[in-house]
Amino acid sequence: MSGSAFAFRLEASDASARAGEFSTPHGTVETPAFMPVGTHAAIRGLTTAEVGAMGARMLLSNAYHLYLRPGDAVVRALGGLHAFARWDGPMLTDSGGFQVFSLARYREVREDGITFRSKFDGSLHEYTPERVIQVQRNLGADIIMQLDELIDGGSDIAPARAAMERSLRWLERCHIEFNRITRDGRAPLDEVAAPTGTPSIPPMASDDCRAPQQALFPIVQGGVHAELRLASHRGIMSIGDWDGVAVGGLSTGEPKPEMYATLDLCGAELPQKRPRYLMGVGFPDDLIEGVRRGMDLFDCVAPTRMGRHGTAFTPHGTLQLLKGTHRLDRTPLVEGCACPACTHYDRAYLRHLFAADEPLGPRLIALHNLTMLMALMRDARAAILAGTFARWSVDWLRRYRDAGVDSPIR
Ligand SMILES: [Zn+2]
Repeated sequence: MSGSAFAFRLEASDASARAGEFSTPHGTVETPAFMPVGTHAAIRGLTTAEVGAMGARMLLSNAYHLYLRPGDAVVRALGGLHAFARWDGPMLTDSGGFQVFSLARYREVREDGITFRSKFDGSLHEYTPERVIQVQRNLGADIIMQLDELIDGGSDIAPARAAMERSLRWLERCHIEFNRITRDGRAPLDEVAAPTGTPSIPPMASDDCRAPQQALFPIVQGGVHAELRLASHRGIMSIGDWDGVAVGGLSTGEPKPEMYATLDLCGAELPQKRPRYLMGVGFPDDLIEGVRRGMDLFDCVAPTRMGRHGTAFTPHGTLQLLKGTHRLDRTPLVEGCACPACTHYDRAYLRHLFAADEPLGPRLIALHNLTMLMALMRDARAAILAGTFARWSVDWLRRYRDAGVDSPIR
């Protein structure tokens, strides 16, 4: 669809697990890979240099949040998301559909799109498939996502079918708008009004208005219903030739076995020669289960969100620092972990930071949780390349689930 700027090279498979390389205009990502989430164009509390140092190659940001603040036109005028956030590597923006459904103060979903009120000033906004593409083309991430209609993971087949079919119709409209802007070659800056209260956007040199090279990913929907997932996949493939395909609507309340069964199905159906992006899944065990079923890219706010609450990932399950048992604990959070929390501090000090409400605490645990997921994906990739993934993943999951430093919290 977008020429040679986006290519996926499959290096090795081990059963359904895949090791590959995904090329984008801002560099190559070795897969499987976890993408840290910077909702507001910042990984909460961390600099892009810190996130890069732990081995992150691709970052995720959110179109809904940036559309509301500072405004996609502002980001465009400041040189686009890469320049704005000081990240030269690959980036992906989610359309923000999930946030509209979960965060907006008021919303109404119609065939044309979603109407919602800003949580900041109550102003009314229209989020149509076309607008979502315009916003993401202004932001300029390498990968942008379609607008889709979201439902609870455990939804019955009738509402799941209606949402899946509407998501397909919205994908067609996203695709048409994406291609129109690609043909025009201009970012749609002048079509997007500056948010109220911001200074007017200065005129841009024609070079700055060029639409960046981007790839649009469709999202397979359909809840936990196999026939709907298959229909969604068929519909997506009939609309275009995509540079990658996402699987959405999982880890949203459905039972784990149903999530894994849906992943089995998607892993078998999705094109082998394209990256598969499993949206919103980022607990260590779910990452392994996803890789095992042929998924390549992952994102989740869990590592930073849990870090804010003093919950750390370890190879033996999650650990809650505020528990009294760590008050005099001189051991590092995780022996052998290369992050600053584990190389410089012990559990007793980290626990104190949370007890004292010291901002260093969440920062250190976010650094640790992300470092651990980066290392986990590197280890998974090495195991796939070595042909030992099946055994490695079984051992890893058994240790994570059975040893139970603390009972996992979700
Ligand atoms: Zn660590």
